[in-house]
Amino acid sequence: DPAPIATTTTTTCGYCGIGCTLDVHVRDGQVAAITPVHGAPVNRGHACVKGRFAHAFAGSRERLTAPLIRRGDALEEASWDEALGLVAARLTAIRDRHGGQAVAMISSARATNEENYLAQKFLRTVVGSNSIDNCSRLCHAPSAAGLTASFGLAGGTNPLDDLDHADCILLAGANPTEAHPVVGARITQRVLAGARLVVVDPRRTTLAALADVHLRGRPGSNVAVFHGLARLLLDGGYTDEEFLTRRATGLAELTELLRDYPPERVAELAAVPASDLATAARLYGQAEHPAIVYGLGITEHAHGTDGVRTLANLAILRGAVGTPGCCGVLTLRGQNNVQGASDMGALPDLLPGYQPLADPAARQRVARVWGQPVPERPGLRIPQMFDAAIAGRLRALYVIGEDIAQTDPDSGHVRAALDACEFVVCHDLFLSQTAAHADVVLPAVSFLEKDGTFVNFDRRFQRVRPALAPPGQATSDFDILRRLAHAMGADLGCPTPAAAMAECAAVAPLFAGISHDRLDREGPLHWPCRGPRDTGQAVLYLDRFATADGRAALAARPYLPPGEQPDTAFPYVLVTGRRLEHYNSGSMTRRTPNTTLLAEETLDLSAADAAALGIDDGTPVAVTSRRATVTLPARITDELAPGEVFTAFHFPDPATNSLTSAHTDTATGCPEYKVTAVALRPT
Ligand code: SF4
Repeated sequence: DPAPIATTTTTTCGYCGIGCTLDVHVRDGQVAAITPVHGAPVNRGHACVKGRFAHAFAGSRERLTAPLIRRGDALEEASWDEALGLVAARLTAIRDRHGGQAVAMISSARATNEENYLAQKFLRTVVGSNSIDNCSRLCHAPSAAGLTASFGLAGGTNPLDDLDHADCILLAGANPTEAHPVVGARITQRVLAGARLVVVDPRRTTLAALADVHLRGRPGSNVAVFHGLARLLLDGGYTDEEFLTRRATGLAELTELLRDYPPERVAELAAVPASDLATAARLYGQAEHPAIVYGLGITEHAHGTDGVRTLANLAILRGAVGTPGCCGVLTLRGQNNVQGASDMGALPDLLPGYQPLADPAARQRVARVWGQPVPERPGLRIPQMFDAAIAGRLRALYVIGEDIAQTDPDSGHVRAALDACEFVVCHDLFLSQTAAHADVVLPAVSFLEKDGTFVNFDRRFQRVRPALAPPGQATSDFDILRRLAHAMGADLGCPTPAAAMAECAAVAPLFAGISHDRLDREGPLHWPCRGPRDTGQAVLYLDRFATADGRAALAARPYLPPGEQPDTAFPYVLVTGRRLEHYNSGSMTRRTPNTTLLAEETLDLSAADAAALGIDDGTPVAVTSRRATVTLPARITDELAPGEVFTAFHFPDPATNSLTSAHTDTATGCPEYKVTAVALRPT
């Protein structure tokens, strides 16, 4: 008989941004089972195949258990003192010779808030650089920019539970059944209870198949589709005139712009039937409680911020945001703490709590608490870091828990940048593709071994509690950063994660009421939470929007075509995304039994394209973009329209991101992962 469960720890899932509350049951120092917590506010007793079953990675023999230092071509084990001494000496030398700007850091959307807070404090105070960024640059930077411009704050407007009231859900650029399964199930439940569903997506996803209307636009046509819907809302009299008069700006400019977007033109631009646009506008327009839920299919485009803003236009036109009982705009975040990493100021132009670096008062507020000045010069975004490394301006890159060599676009360029740096450090659980390029690799711990907090997709601070002891000498990013600062002759303060959260609350008014004590006593708290008696704002903007004039801002932005276009040499459009069984780089899920559910990547394509190319299920297909070629087995499916193909990036081989392009969102630098022109050839 197995030994009884020794401990059960309640914590927050470390996979997607939904932030399900889970009980981790441990026996003999290993996870015996993970169960969802009944009655938990986000997941209500549900969990998906990742959060519930993908935990064996924690006990994998491939875990890094000691620091590694490159000697010649090999990475060899070293003591913590030697490894940290080397990192401290190299960073100090580069900083002193070339200035702090020669060092950049990519912080982690898998790390806790406290670790992200400490990472940006380390780079700003010890190194003297603002070149810190996190993977929101690659996914939801357009959400932060777009939602801030439209409404005033960089988060979704309403809590998940508001979906319980929705009588029409507009789901745009998201496949939550696979990428955010607990929300996918919640939407399905709502539809089965009678809510109408409009899906905007090039793929016929599970929810698209369930929808009243599926607007299957061309990849890259979101802005045109949203303008078409906005024009139909105006023409059909579905707008909230009082709301628009009292609480919004920009209606005249938008109305003028929308003259250029009659349904017939949008039908041509986006390849969606005008009649479907009309039905979708009627369903969203007539609903009493319309909700918008969107994901990376809106943001990861050359005009992703325009996509977010023109989607937000629809909620503003309907007065379906900032109004009691409305369902607002929900943004499905990717990694578990991508919201929190940005909230904590792991960004090159924003301090904790989205305080602009350019604002002297914000810099002074932070500097007062830190006891030293905040550097003024804005830092580099992730894509700019790679360009600067290749140009010789960036000498050292410090990567915390992200496998940029596998997951960032145009990975050949990323690898060239890593090789161009004088010095590369990374923290990770495993020897990742990025670690293989590093000079020093420091063994870190997973969410199952950490103390701190995450912020989920609807702005909830939730506790993360250690259920396991770290393997070998592995330790938290928090501990590594404190020890490294010490080795560089500095003291970051914040002896514990709770102390770091307290300091963050002191520098960021948006989180002034957040503390570990309160979260342990009261449960999750939404930000803004501006003081110890503030219970947090689940629904934003009930009194006023957080813009300068207190009004929501309609955006009159024209539709512009994607950065990458198909042509005769590259006639197909590749869309990338995620699969249910795996998560991002797959470094965790590939080391669990989930691999038996999905053992390899496929190239999904339509039956029509497969027939035209002489491809059967399983045929190896060479996929060539303007940058690289990879080979994938074919999977023929009705999810794809002819001319469009799909794959994910959960496996290092094939290197999907060697195909994707360097085109980025003009406003934020978010890559255009969703549109890559490719050629196909059966091999
Ligand atoms: Fe974890 Fe997301 Fe699955 Fe919830 S839905 S269990 S947060 S991966």
